[in-house]
Amino acid sequence: MNTNIQAKQWTSTPIRILLPNGLAVSQREFLFAGLENFVNLDNRLEDFVKFGAQWPSFFPARIGALEGGRITIDEERGDVSIKYRWAPEAHSLVLAYRWLLRRIWHHNSRGQNYLGVLMGIDHAYLNGVEDGELGNGTVRNLFSEGWRKLKIAFPEAQQQGLPSVFPSWPSGAFFYTPLNDFQKALYLLFRESWRAKICHECQRCFIAQKPAQGYCSPRCSGAAKKRRNLDWWRREGAAQRQASSAKVKRTHPRGSSTRSAKRN
Ligand SMILES: [Zn+2]
Repeated sequence: MNTNIQAKQWTSTPIRILLPNGLAVSQREFLFAGLENFVNLDNRLEDFVKFGAQWPSFFPARIGALEGGRITIDEERGDVSIKYRWAPEAHSLVLAYRWLLRRIWHHNSRGQNYLGVLMGIDHAYLNGVEDGELGNGTVRNLFSEGWRKLKIAFPEAQQQGLPSVFPSWPSGAFFYTPLNDFQKALYLLFRESWRAKICHECQRCFIAQKPAQGYCSPRCSGAAKKRRNLDWWRREGAAQRQASSAKVKRTHPRGSSTRSAKRN
């Protein structure tokens, strides 16, 4: 799958309303799979590096270099912020995004207020945390800390080209232009938020195919079914075994066996 071509199509063309059916199935699957891996990302640095190698286009921010008063981005490679994204120094910043995404996934109402931060459209907030404006609240602290760590290693790094949402009078719709696959995938999920679920078995965040789906995989649904059957067997089965044993005793009371009857 050529993700670079897809990225260019998205970044150069504002989308009016992103209807899930309007996307190729393979692209939807790719975006959802990447986001699912992102939200389940472990805290370890090695997992972050591994994820970056596997899903490079899912770096959640767009970062360029501020050099000589001008911001330069690495557009030649058809990509941006290649130097900074997935650098070990960006680990904390990515974990801040992941933390917030998890809150939203868990249907945390306070977390949902920060959806614009993840989508890159809450410019005031994003610029505030980038400037190290440490304020009250976990979200602000996490993001500010992430930026601080990145800028210690790369003082010239700057967030830039934030996506915007703007109303289009001729089309009667809002336009949103995602800048990376993280934002695209999140927008897709935002349009169908019922898909964001937590597995009843392993507690992993997953994207459901059907509204009734409660498990992330056949393995988890199989394990849950097995446990339910076992519980039933222990509970109902024990009662049934007791009842049938009592029935046998009633039919053949002690001392009235066929053998003793024959002796008589
Ligand atoms: Zn599971």
